[in-house]
Amino acid sequence: MPQHVPTDLPDHLQHFIGGEFVDSLDGTTFEVLDPVTNQAYTTAAAGKNDDVDRAVTAAAEAFHAGPWPQLLPRQRARILHAIADIVESRDRRLAELETFDTGLPITQALGQAQRAAENFRFFADLIVAQRDDAYKVPGRQLNYVNRKPKGVAGLITPWNTPFMLESWKLAPALASGCTVVLKPAEFTPLSASLWPDIFREAGVPDGVFNLVNGLGEEAGDALVKHPGVPLISFTGESSTGQLIFANAAPHLKGLSMELGGKSPAVVFADADLDEAIDATVFGVFSLNGERCTAGSRILVEQAVYDEFVERYAARARAIVVGDPHDPATEVGALVHPEHFAKVMSYVEIGKGEGRLVAGGGRPEGLETGNYVAPTVFVDVKPDARIFQEEIFGPVVAISPFDTEEEALALANGVKYGLAAYVWTNDLRRAHTFAQSIDAGMVWLNSNNVRDLRTPFGGVKASGLGHEGGYRSIDFYTDQQAVHTTL
Ligand code: NAD
Repeated sequence: MPQHVPTDLPDHLQHFIGGEFVDSLDGTTFEVLDPVTNQAYTTAAAGKNDDVDRAVTAAAEAFHAGPWPQLLPRQRARILHAIADIVESRDRRLAELETFDTGLPITQALGQAQRAAENFRFFADLIVAQRDDAYKVPGRQLNYVNRKPKGVAGLITPWNTPFMLESWKLAPALASGCTVVLKPAEFTPLSASLWPDIFREAGVPDGVFNLVNGLGEEAGDALVKHPGVPLISFTGESSTGQLIFANAAPHLKGLSMELGGKSPAVVFADADLDEAIDATVFGVFSLNGERCTAGSRILVEQAVYDEFVERYAARARAIVVGDPHDPATEVGALVHPEHFAKVMSYVEIGKGEGRLVAGGGRPEGLETGNYVAPTVFVDVKPDARIFQEEIFGPVVAISPFDTEEEALALANGVKYGLAAYVWTNDLRRAHTFAQSIDAGMVWLNSNNVRDLRTPFGGVKASGLGHEGGYRSIDFYTDQQAVHTTL
């Protein structure tokens, strides 16, 4: 199959520090692969301590010299809207590059570019509408809040939907008046290289946005340990989150952590099965299954279990896997050969833990590239590794349950608690079940629609703190209470 290669691919990706594109001080680079050929198509500067220090210094200077933190919310909002306009106007190019770098299906990458623009619009509007506490005891005292940006925010992001997830941190950090150092994932640095020009054109002053490419254990680690960075917003694996938590402890840094998941989709016998099947197929196989909120464990009430399994397996077998740039593709290539090997190892583990009813390896006809056929294991026991561990690929475990209590125990019986999906037409059960489930976010008879004002985050090993709406602004700002006697 001839591969679509975008025109004008950069042959090298640099850091962006203090308004300039620069290489690492020691000149080192790393290779970036495309997931269809697994060939290196570019190199990126590999940031180390000194490069991170340079970026933090530039961000600190921009913060202290201003004007970014002192701008009126309306002035910053105008620039954020300009960023959104530019992102929207380039959504096709963005999607093309993102698809080439990540292997995500092009139609889904386009949706992510549009979501990135929306994140900037949303936080632009939010800071203009921001209200803070003010209390008056008549004739006695007045109390109000000074909201102040915290300083240089360190932003560390993963490789799944990289551009959109970067925007989810950049937009509120910049809206709040912080300056930033972004460390994007080393598997997928291509789309992040578009930010400098977008910000420049929109009028973001030099030094406000800084980008350091590099490996997690080098550039990411240096950012976490840098004393000039008072807060870290991190999205990635739970185990990386634990390490960052420990490394940030000596500095008592502010931490926001959006971590891994193994989210349940619970289907009761009274649910609309057509809708539940559509949504649970989408829930695990969209974005190649590389989705933090994937409903990767489906729990189905015994009375409809056999029918559900049969119909679900047929749907999974019909999913179009192939060239990520083809608009007909529903599952593209996994991001990197290392991740492909991890997902394939779970497919093999699953063969000893459940009954395979769809997929189970490479799709026919796709002998190279990181392609995995949508894979469905059924009759999976709760102690199975494919039930407990995050696979982060197009692989799902389906298990039956008899009672609501059993469904709840199965749903909650993992270390994660990011999302949960409940399918039932019993209104009371839907709401009481949602209340009992260990998940930061619950979708009732719906799938991943969300208002940006609502909390986003997980419980247990899925995260620390919540972002979304004012919670994001709270993370990037200090609220100083001012009291005066009247
Ligand atoms: P990862 O933890 O391997 O890497 C994430 C980022 O952290 C990368 O930029 C990496 O370079 C950096 N990093 C790695 N080690 C570091 C260290 N020691 N110090 C500082 N930075 C370090 O995660 P990944 O494989 O890129 O992403 C997939 C994971 O992200 C999955 O577990 C997924 O569930 C999770 N995720 C969660 C959410 C959410 O909102 N909860 C969203 C998307 C992805």
